[in-house]
Amino acid sequence: MNEEMIIGVKQLLETPKKIVIVPHKSPDGDAIGSITALYSYLNKLGHETTMISPNDYPKFLSWLDHTDKIINFEKQNSQALTAIDEAQIIFILDHNALHRAGDMEQQLTASDATFVMIDHHQQPDDFARFMYSDTSMSSTCEMVYHFLDQLDALDLIDQGMATSLYTGILTDTGSFKYRSTTSTTLRVAANLVDKGADSEKINRRIYDVNSPSRMKLLGVALSNLIILPEYRAAFITLTQQELDDNNFEKGDTEGFVNYALSLDDIVFAQIFIEKADESMIKTSLRSKGDFDVNKMAREHWNGGGHKNAAGGRSEASMQETVDKLISILPQYESDLKSTII
Ligand code: 5GP
Ligand code: MN
Repeated sequence: MNEEMIIGVKQLLETPKKIVIVPHKSPDGDAIGSITALYSYLNKLGHETTMISPNDYPKFLSWLDHTDKIINFEKQNSQALTAIDEAQIIFILDHNALHRAGDMEQQLTASDATFVMIDHHQQPDDFARFMYSDTSMSSTCEMVYHFLDQLDALDLIDQGMATSLYTGILTDTGSFKYRSTTSTTLRVAANLVDKGADSEKINRRIYDVNSPSRMKLLGVALSNLIILPEYRAAFITLTQQELDDNNFEKGDTEGFVNYALSLDDIVFAQIFIEKADESMIKTSLRSKGDFDVNKMAREHWNGGGHKNAAGGRSEASMQETVDKLISILPQYESDLKSTII
C-alpha cells in the first residue's frame, strides 16, 4: 500500500461512514476470511458496515465470526440494493474486476461511493480510488493483515479476526504449500496464532468436515479422471447428473482438481463442473512450476486468476468442452514438456 493510500484511507475512516464490503462470487475461504475480519475492524471504528456476497458462501465457513451477518445478494436483494445505494465507501476484496461480483456488477458500477480494492489477482481493472493490488501476496487475508498494520490497527485484531485471517491464508496457500507462501506469510500466520487463531481447530473445521456424499462425489470425480501423459496433463469432469446423484452441496468440489495435479509428473490439471442452473460449465485450472494457467484461462476459458490457479467457464456442452481442451493442448505442448518441477 503506498503512502497516498495510507493517508487517504485513514482520512476516509476518520469519521463514521456507511460502508459495504463485497467478496467475489462463490466466495472461498480467503474471500470470507478477509471480509469478516475487515467487517470486525470497521465496526470497531464505529462505521455502519454491511457485507454483501453476490451469492451463497460454502457451509464449511459458517463457523467464522460474523458470517451470519453476510447478506446474500440473490436472496436478500432489496436489503442489498439499499445498502449499496447508501454506501459512502465500498471495499472490494479478493477480486479486482466488478464482473467477478456477478449480478452485483451493475449496481456497483452505478455507485458513486469511494471504492477501495484489496486484492492479489493479476491485471486489476481501474475502478477503485484506492487500490492495494499485489500479485505476489499469498492471499487477500495476508493483505488485510498488512493493511491493518499500516493503519496502526494490529492491536484491534481479536481472536475472531485472527481466526478469519488465518483461515484465508491457510486455504489460499493450500495449507502453506504454494510458492506464494513467503517467510512474511508465515510470520503473519504466526502473529495471528499469537492473537488467538487456533491452527489445529481451524484445520479440523476446514478439512475434516467431509460429508459421506462429498466422499462419494470425490469417488466419481476420481473415476472420471483422464490422464494425458503426453501433455503432462490430467482433467476431471462432473456432470449435473453426477452432482445430483451425490446430493451436491456448494463447496463439495473444492480441492477436487488438486487430486489430478497431485499425479507424479503432471504439470497441468483442470476440472469441469456442470452448472445446469447457469447453463454453463465452471472450470478450475491448476499448475505446477512456471506453467501459466492464468494465461490459458484468459485465452480460452473466459476467466483468469493466478499463474498456478485460475478459473473460467464454458457455455458449450461437456463433450464439446472436453473436445476443446484436447484441441488446445497442442499449443501448450512445448511449454508443458519444458516445465521444470
Ligand atoms: P477456483 O478455480 O478455485 O474457482 O479459482 C482459482 C483462482 O482463479 C482464484 O484466485 C479465483 O479468484 C480465480 N478465478 C476463478 N474463476 C475465475 C473467473 O471466472 N475469472 C477470473 N478472472 N478469475 C477466476
Ligand atoms: Mn484469494
